[in-house]
Amino acid sequence: MSAGDEVVVALDVGGTGMKCALVRPDGTTVHSERHATAAQRGPEAVVGTILDVAEGLAGKARADGRTPVACGIAVPGVVDEARGVAVWSANVGFRDVPLRELAGTRLGLPAALGHDVRAGGLAEARLGAGRDAGHVLFVAIGTGIAAAHVVDGSAATGAHGAAGEIGHILVRPGGPRCGCGRTGCLEAVSSASAIGRRYAELSGAPTTAAEVADRAAAGEPLAVEVWQEAVEALADGLATGQALYDVSTVVLGGGLAQAGPRLFDPLRTALRERLTFHREPRLVAADLGDEAGCLGAALLALDTLAKESR
Ligand SMILES: [Zn+2]
Repeated sequence: MSAGDEVVVALDVGGTGMKCALVRPDGTTVHSERHATAAQRGPEAVVGTILDVAEGLAGKARADGRTPVACGIAVPGVVDEARGVAVWSANVGFRDVPLRELAGTRLGLPAALGHDVRAGGLAEARLGAGRDAGHVLFVAIGTGIAAAHVVDGSAATGAHGAAGEIGHILVRPGGPRCGCGRTGCLEAVSSASAIGRRYAELSGAPTTAAEVADRAAAGEPLAVEVWQEAVEALADGLATGQALYDVSTVVLGGGLAQAGPRLFDPLRTALRERLTFHREPRLVAADLGDEAGCLGAALLALDTLAKESR
């Protein structure tokens, strides 16, 4: 290690926790830490914590003889990456927070702001399960479902910072009510929380999606039915994704992807049944786990540096 050992400060801010790291230009993490978001304190306090943690990480880098060169922050919700503004977030409470400027000023470093799932997709496409694929759709399935379309190492943001909301593709008209207010959205049927909720409704017992997967694998008829419903709807959503994006690789991440072959095997079959002239994408599990968002924030910081030096 030398004084010229450059790192970027990276933060992935979620509704409950922040994953934070110092990351080298080659994508290796040299230090990581986690902090509580404590979103109930309100957005101003959360912003204060983000800036304090980022400053602390830059200080840690210097204390270790490294040089912090940029900062990247990923947040949930609607993010205007071009302006560096956290426009809106249900679970952290952001409303038009100019986080990029705030972080850049506090740290005295170039800063980047990104969307958490798009950042995760960027990391999976460049460093993880989708590396070398060129055209990647990253789909995170947890309490909700969101996606990132990454082409040649860059994630599309959309005109309003809201690209990739695949969880709100209509797959079951008149189906279960979605958090967005409509009925029949993909995430109202196939998210981990929707699977647990559906099984609980039918059985009367509170259950997680992981338990439904286990019970379905053991052949319990109700669990098989609920699991299959979720897989079919997910295949509908992915077939729409493939019609729109024609990717070579679909990377599935988030809690539900932990189900492994119990998800991937039936999903691959169901997706194949739905594709006509479209080419079937490779369907793979994410590589980077819950660190993808933080690594993606680091990549955004590095991309900002590269742009500035051009
Ligand atoms: Zn919806």
